[in-house]
Amino acid sequence: MANKLKNCSGCGRLYLDTGVGICPDCQQKELDAEDMVAAYVRENQGCTVAEVCAATGISEKIVRRMIRQGRFSNIPGAEFRYPCAKCGEMIDHGDYCFSCQRQITADLVAQQQKAMANAAARKTAGMYSMDIRNGKR
Ligand SMILES: [Zn+2]
Ligand SMILES: [Zn+2]
Repeated sequence: MANKLKNCSGCGRLYLDTGVGICPDCQQKELDAEDMVAAYVRENQGCTVAEVCAATGISEKIVRRMIRQGRFSNIPGAEFRYPCAKCGEMIDHGDYCFSCQRQITADLVAQQQKAMANAAARKTAGMYSMDIRNGKR
């Protein structure tokens, strides 16, 4: 993916995006924030998201993202559970439970195969019409 200028979703400044979505300054700030959150969770086993936010002053958005990424799954005693976005089963990382994730992946693969088949059909059709044009010249 090519780098392009984008407005940082954190501070709004223009920066060269490498696919992260935020500028290097905000990235560093988020890394610091994540370190703080991880340290707090390690020292306060069984704490809730609200407690983490209140104690560290870090936005719930960042804490929730870390949970989704499974950043606390290797910290003993850290249990942040939330419902699967599809069926509501309690999970501790990702957006979906295992069975929904498997279903979504299967759907995605089927979709991609369909898209690839469509693209191949379009390409063949395009080549065919080009041949006709060239033939007329
Ligand atoms: Zn920024
Ligand atoms: Zn589910």
